[in-house]
Amino acid sequence: MRKTGPVEIVKPRDIAEAVRLVKEGGRPLAGGTDLFVRIRKGIENPPFLVYLGELPELQGIRLREEGAEVGAAVTHAELLRSPLSARVPILRLAISALGAPAIREMGTLAGNLANASPAGDGLIPLYLLEATVRLAGPDGEREIPVEEFVLGPGKTALRPGEIIRSLWIPFPEGKPLSYFRKVGRRRALVIAIASLGALIWLEGDVIGKARLALGSVAPTVLRPRQVEEALVGLPLEPEALRPAAELLSRATQPISDLRASADYRRKVAGNLLLDMAISLSHRD
Ligand SMILES: Cc1cc2nc3c(=O)[nH]c(=O)nc-3n(C[C@H](O)[C@H](O)[C@H](O)COP(=O)(O)OP(=O)(O)OC[C@H]3O[C@@H](n4cnc5c(N)ncnc54)[C@H](O)[C@@H]3O)c2cc1C
Repeated sequence: MRKTGPVEIVKPRDIAEAVRLVKEGGRPLAGGTDLFVRIRKGIENPPFLVYLGELPELQGIRLREEGAEVGAAVTHAELLRSPLSARVPILRLAISALGAPAIREMGTLAGNLANASPAGDGLIPLYLLEATVRLAGPDGEREIPVEEFVLGPGKTALRPGEIIRSLWIPFPEGKPLSYFRKVGRRRALVIAIASLGALIWLEGDVIGKARLALGSVAPTVLRPRQVEEALVGLPLEPEALRPAAELLSRATQPISDLRASADYRRKVAGNLLLDMAISLSHRD
């Protein structure tokens, strides 16, 4: 791989200047935990970087009655320390599994999303909570659902000059049970072989509604809607969920790579659903 020399970092004063610089070819930079790695490895060689981390308009978490607006410069660690993480447990579960403390101090949820990796841990709660992405660009602002923002591995709906301004995270109705688990080859700093996040609403003894999101088993994070529907009416027990686990394995479109084969990933995805049933049915 080709190594590159130093790259210039420009610090805009406001969003308008940031958008202009990105339109001119500058690459948005937040925590740099993805981008600097890619530049160092020679995978990318942007003409210059536009540092967004200190833009006032991109800071802070604004809690509203129906949800929270998370500024694009908010780091994972800030999120975990905020009241939002207590209010939305699925966010806390997934973000606390991302990287290591130093990475979480620097990296942002918006950067994790813009990176558009199917293994991105932060994307799982964003898909489950049906978050929307607020973009600022040369033609003003627009808002799109997270599932329309991510187009494929490393591919997003960002248009030339656009940056993420904030993420809108709606609070789920009621009090769903939350589950997140990623399977990797090591305990620390794991890139997921497969991951599953879930929100489960119980009605009496059975599942009334379910949302599932899987990482690393398709070109983007996957919401297997037919499996979500198949879970409705079932008790939250591994035996009862076995057919749904098989359906889930079949719904994945994994690839084989250095970390795991496609077959293994398919199997792990189904097993994660059974693990979800075990771990949620043992809650107190
Ligand atoms: C050792 C290590 C371990 C890691 N472990 C994990 C892990 O377990 N799970 C995981 O999901 N990730 C992991 N990562 C990846 C990375 O830390 C996360 O994806 C992080 O959230 C990226 O955020 P950032 O602010 O550092 O993004 P940056 O590196 O600054 O940017 C990433 C991408 O997003 C774009 N971007 C950033 N902000 C904006 C914006 N506001 N608008 C438009 N585009 C923007 C950049 O141009 C770039 O393409 C790891 C990385 C390292 C180095």
